[in-house]
Amino acid sequence: MSLRPRAHIHLDHIVENWKTIRSGLNNSQCAVVLKADAYGHGLERVGEALHNNGCQHFFVAYGFEGEILRKHIGPHAVIYVLNGPDRAEERIYRQYALTPVVNSSQQFQTLVDWLQTNGKLERGYALNFDTGMNRLGLPGDDAAQLSEATRGLDPDLIMSHLACADDRRHDLNAAQRDRLTTIQSFFPDIPFSFANSDGTLLGDGFHLQLARAGIGLFGGGQHALKPGIKPGLTLEAPVLQLRLAKAGETVGYGATQTLTKETLIATVAMGYGDGFPRAASNTGFAMIDDIRCPIIGRVSMDLTTIDVTQAGHLARTGVFVQFLGDRADLEEQAACAGTIGYELTTGLTSRVERLYE
Ligand SMILES: *Cc1c(COP(=O)(O)O)cnc(C)c1O
Repeated sequence: MSLRPRAHIHLDHIVENWKTIRSGLNNSQCAVVLKADAYGHGLERVGEALHNNGCQHFFVAYGFEGEILRKHIGPHAVIYVLNGPDRAEERIYRQYALTPVVNSSQQFQTLVDWLQTNGKLERGYALNFDTGMNRLGLPGDDAAQLSEATRGLDPDLIMSHLACADDRRHDLNAAQRDRLTTIQSFFPDIPFSFANSDGTLLGDGFHLQLARAGIGLFGGGQHALKPGIKPGLTLEAPVLQLRLAKAGETVGYGATQTLTKETLIATVAMGYGDGFPRAASNTGFAMIDDIRCPIIGRVSMDLTTIDVTQAGHLARTGVFVQFLGDRADLEEQAACAGTIGYELTTGLTSRVERLYE
């Protein structure tokens, strides 16, 4: 084993998490969202594991991500492309049987041009309506007009996205659902998709026909503390050196931390060059067995220093310490760095060795 940071990717946990999230849904199917290299876990391997276990609906952000996934899982699944059809990509959509999600009148025109010139898309298309997030999507007010415009070329799915699913008390959740209900009245026979991972926890009224689970598959978001949900990966790095520093001395760049007592410091092969955030300087932590070792001093590009005084007998060079995993909760570590689990796993760089198990 080389002395570099590594991420054990737990494909079995990801599949189990998908089944757990799905078991919380009434009569609706559970798609998986594998954009951004499956949130840093690896699109091909994660896609394959889920597909082998019966997953039939996948979402990615870009056509090229859809191409990679299709080449890997074969023809038997629907692959939606969230960011929508790009005029230059018709060949990819047709060759890899991708399903564009139409988000604007401009994208709708692109789709209509494709259909009129070269016929139907093998796996159809979806419409995405904005119901209050003001990000991507067709205006909800255009639903009536679009139900006319799509006559004879019905969408296969209609979707919308929640802005505040992580906060079940937020008023916007019900407001968005009400707007979507109005849109449903214009498309009575089309399946609808609304909930992301956290949205599945807002109650049956948010499930509709197809949920879109992303972060929950990897043990993050509101699912992080749900029973049965396990981490999608374990991030760990080896101790390269140990030193005993005296009270009054400082640690690391900028001398941001002055020791108040004699401290055993482990220098670990993990830094922002690996995607571990510099914002975790003096706030994040690593685990040696069950002992929490605070990060002291700044996270630098290749190295991080942790206080292993409490772990004395276990802290040795070559020992791997855990930054994320069953002992180091993703959302807790992310919060230490002022961010969210999504950004942490997505940000892990190619320097972190991925080990699939
Ligand atoms: C990323 C994304 C999802 C998945 O969201 P999670 O919070 O990770 O479950 C679902 N829908 C859309 C439109 C997205 O962009």
